Amino acid sequence: MVLMLDGKTHAERMLADVQAGVEGRCARGLRAPCLAVVLVGDDPASQVYVRGKIAACARTGIRSLEHRLPADTAQDRLEALIAELNQDPEVDGILVQLPLPAGLDAKRVLLGLDPAKDVDGLHPTNQGLLLAGQRGLRPCTPSACISMLKAYGIPLRGQRAVVLGRSELVGKPISLMLLEEHATVTIAHSRTRDLPALCREADLLVVAVGRPGLVEGSWIKPGATVVDVGINRVEQLELGERIFQADPRKLELLRSKGHVLCGDVRFGEAAAVAGAITPVPGGVGLLTIAGLMANTLQAAEAREARS
Ligand code: NAP
Repeated sequence: MVLMLDGKTHAERMLADVQAGVEGRCARGLRAPCLAVVLVGDDPASQVYVRGKIAACARTGIRSLEHRLPADTAQDRLEALIAELNQDPEVDGILVQLPLPAGLDAKRVLLGLDPAKDVDGLHPTNQGLLLAGQRGLRPCTPSACISMLKAYGIPLRGQRAVVLGRSELVGKPISLMLLEEHATVTIAHSRTRDLPALCREADLLVVAVGRPGLVEGSWIKPGATVVDVGINRVEQLELGERIFQADPRKLELLRSKGHVLCGDVRFGEAAAVAGAITPVPGGVGLLTIAGLMANTLQAAEAREARS
């Protein structure tokens, strides 16, 4: 029987820990941590994510400040806002919701962040600290994935891990974190030859590609742990009929609603072979916001310790 890695339960646990940390600070007479969220433009998905982040702040006792800017905001204006937030002693964490509207250079914006407030862990200083194995703010999704794997007692030390995807947001940082946990890590990407054979060697397969149903059940080593980071909206029935052969409920939803969310792994096929697996939705997706709250608390504590 496959073990379902339940992101909701783990995210709740992480949020409860953050809440306890915030309450502890307040009991010691310190102020609650404060997260500034910057949203540029009116991308509907980004608006949903930002709402979720603000709600998680309220849930954990973290103060939130929202800065909404129009889609035609100039690069200089956005960078000036970041500079102001960097200087604001009340602000512990700054989150710039990505992607930014066309015409804005996200890399330059991220470079302008004070690394001590970079709660997404995407500033090169924090990336360097991760590479060096030192404490810093780490990308939320990968660090929360590692925390969930540990909470479920999934062995990492000495395990053969394959990470599909090499993005700065997920693939690269989770590879480094797995290395830190003494896994033997291979990073694969769009130019990797014979992905199925490589995946079949993995005791732990982490997939962060953004291609619905790319990973088939036959790619999974029996008993392996599968972490599916992908979140894809599928609308085409033809694609659904191909990738949901072992997921009749998803196919039914697609037919009735016209769209359905799924991961990069064909869940039904993989669950029949794997030892443990994250569902989509209900797996990794819920962990990111919990990781963000943990990073905001960490940023506030680190600033406190320095002052
Ligand atoms: P990304 O920046 O687009 O990177 C995708 C990676 O997958 C790239 O390294 C790319 O290779 C590789 N790739 C693409 N097609 C491939 C193929 N056919 N075979 C092998 N590798 C392939 O994506 P991301 O930001 O890492 O996100 C990946 C997925 O995770 C998306 O579905 C995203 O929505 C989801 N996500 C979820 C969360 C969450 O759960 N909270 C957070 C972040 C991301 P190249 O480098 O060679 O192009």
